[in-house]
Amino acid sequence: MQIGFIGLGNMGAPMAANLAKAGHNVTGFDVAGTTAEGVTQVATAAEAAAGQDIVITMLPNGDILRSVADTVIPAMTAGATLIDCSTVDVESARAVAAQADAAGLGCVDAPVSGGIGGAAGGTLTFMAGGSAAAFEAAKPLFDIMGQKAVHCGDAGAGQAAKICNNMILGVTMIATCEAFALADKLGLDRQKMFDVVSTSSGYSWTMNAYCPAPGVGPTSPADNGYTPGFAAELMLKDLGLSQQAAEAADADTPMGQAALALYRQFVEDEDGRGKDFSAMLPRFETRRRPS
Ligand code: NAD
Repeated sequence: MQIGFIGLGNMGAPMAANLAKAGHNVTGFDVAGTTAEGVTQVATAAEAAAGQDIVITMLPNGDILRSVADTVIPAMTAGATLIDCSTVDVESARAVAAQADAAGLGCVDAPVSGGIGGAAGGTLTFMAGGSAAAFEAAKPLFDIMGQKAVHCGDAGAGQAAKICNNMILGVTMIATCEAFALADKLGLDRQKMFDVVSTSSGYSWTMNAYCPAPGVGPTSPADNGYTPGFAAELMLKDLGLSQQAAEAADADTPMGQAALALYRQFVEDEDGRGKDFSAMLPRFETRRRPS
């Protein structure tokens, strides 16, 4: 296939390289001038999009996606498919899908989980929103860049699934970390805490697969000085998107709101930027109960 790839950053570059490695003809553009192995670099987003069967975007946020879509959609050939893999707000995803539809293009919002390791290894999970036909057009590429693709529903459904998942992730990470810090203060050995909780009703992905306590459970960023992994500022971004969506949909999400406030404080005021999101545990360790 002829593929245009816009946004060759930490995630986009390895994803584009995997498509090229699989034998697709990939043309790429990034404002920062970055490129990827096997990808032909061009000077504008419109050039990367013109005449392609599929155009993929992997960009920082919804505003940038909207501005890139404004130049890319008119450059694309009717019948082609636009796949946005960025994590953006549901409204931007739906607006871009409507714009693509009006231009006779297919469109899929397909945010990913799996991080930089998943992008490099081709093991991402895609959560997709859009028509069945657009999803089918995108599916062979999801199979190269990832190990799983779930068609979640119409436009915006992929972003909705992503932010709901990450709201659960942020909340459970905080709960796991504050419980470890409490256990410490009660004199409970961390390994015993893990042995009990990981096989009891308090178990979760954050405890069992990504334990925030160094030396306990499977290897995780905690064992590597809390080097990400999944950076606290990316969790902050996703919790902001889930609260933005909750406000727009009039949904009551008090735990998500509390998690957003804590990650904001951690990233903006407490040196959490650049650390893994599980570094909430050393944060709680050093704190006392507010009076
Ligand atoms: P990144 O900042 O490394 O990459 C984004 C790229 O977009 C940059 O190279 C930037 O130069 C480029 N860009 C910005 N504006 C542009 C424009 N107008 N035209 C062309 N290129 C432009 O970010 P990333 O880590 O690759 O993340 C990309 C997206 O994936 C984000 O939405 C992020 O939330 C999501 N995501 C990231 C991870 C992760 O672990 N990094 C995991 C899941 C999802």
